Amino acid sequence: MLPVSQAETIIFNLVQPLDAQRDAEVVTLLTAIDRILAAPVTSALDFPHWDNSAMDGYAVRYEDVLQCSEQQPAVLEIVEEIPAGREPQRIIQPGQAARILTGAVMPAGADTVVIQEQTRREGKRVLILAAPEPQAFVRHRASFYRAGTPLLPRGITINAPEIAVLAAAQCTHLKVYRRPRVALMSTGNELVTPDQPLQHGQIVDSNHYALAALVAQTGAEPLQLGIQPDQPAALKNAIAMALATADVVVSSGGVSVGDYDYVEQILASLKAEIHISSVALKPGKPLTVARFPASAASNQKPVLYFGLPGNPASALVSFWRFVQPALKKLSGISHSWGPMFVLARSRHELRSDGKRETYLWGQLHLVDGGYEFQLAAGSHSAGNLINLAQTNGLAVVPVGQKLISAGEQIQVLQVGSPIVIT
Ligand code: AMP
Ligand code: MG
Repeated sequence: MLPVSQAETIIFNLVQPLDAQRDAEVVTLLTAIDRILAAPVTSALDFPHWDNSAMDGYAVRYEDVLQCSEQQPAVLEIVEEIPAGREPQRIIQPGQAARILTGAVMPAGADTVVIQEQTRREGKRVLILAAPEPQAFVRHRASFYRAGTPLLPRGITINAPEIAVLAAAQCTHLKVYRRPRVALMSTGNELVTPDQPLQHGQIVDSNHYALAALVAQTGAEPLQLGIQPDQPAALKNAIAMALATADVVVSSGGVSVGDYDYVEQILASLKAEIHISSVALKPGKPLTVARFPASAASNQKPVLYFGLPGNPASALVSFWRFVQPALKKLSGISHSWGPMFVLARSRHELRSDGKRETYLWGQLHLVDGGYEFQLAAGSHSAGNLINLAQTNGLAVVPVGQKLISAGEQIQVLQVGSPIVIT
């Protein structure tokens, strides 16, 4: 039984991120949200594209206004008006100014903008009532970004600010990593789909739905292979099929020590390298992690296999703790793919047997900028999925610790947005 931290190291080292050349696709700007950039972006445009005004006011020659004041204003002749988008027609000469609006191109000859609030208009003239700083309120060409230098690096997630940058740079098509493909299957003779009538003793395959949702939320594509019976031949067939299309296979059930737990022996018969068989994690001790190595001969890419325990809470906790970060690393993202732990104050006493790293589900609240952990009411049995609803955090009780008192600071694995208490 491996400690959680060792299992984590083994798993994350097994993950090879997608290849930026081979595993990329082109998407349009509006469909790029949440995707991961597979190639760095540069632009042929300077930002700003030209010297322009940051304010509504008057474009002037600094030397004409450097000594003016409210008592002794500089008086300048207005020779043209330049709204945003219009090309200036005149070169500003000594004693002249142009009315200018935010974003408009600076006219030649002028080097400074005096904001409207520090002027008084008198017909065709403007009085400058205060001396500005030299070059005030001029946004200089290329002062934000110089054409040809790196604009956005590979491996970042495209969110609204990146979309704005890319739109401004007129990048309408982008190279992003394809979504990792994750084959999902549930093993168990007792399982039925949610739409089937339930016979006595049967269990609804909830894991498939929960795992498909988590895979999609992680930005990967779930491939649903459904329920597989506890029969070695059928299971072997299903796994072999999954290997052809998926980057990762996630099964639930059948990895324990029961008479019907065949997953590990099938993996071995398919020549997988088995790296992990069990982890000192509660819930979720049985966990099989294997890898099918790449084979040039059969043009086979490496495939990672996660055999999660069947109990619903165990399956979800193992997914959150190990599979989700592995999928993120695989996706090509260059940062923040690891599990997110935050420090929170526990509102309750938390208990464990001290033998395995224990994850207790509940809610993470954000109160006055600090996190608090609210333990889910009801049974924390691995077979209970009812009180998993609304879980957004898992409090960690480390090995060797049996009791955490209410009010103590604890590590919480964040698995959803915290509830903000205002
Ligand atoms: P196993 O790991 O196969 O021994 O399963 C352990 C427990 O989890 C059993 O009670 C199963 O009925 C239950 N279980 C297994 N697979 C699923 C599933 N896909 N959805 C919900 N419960 C499951
Ligand atoms: Mg089973």
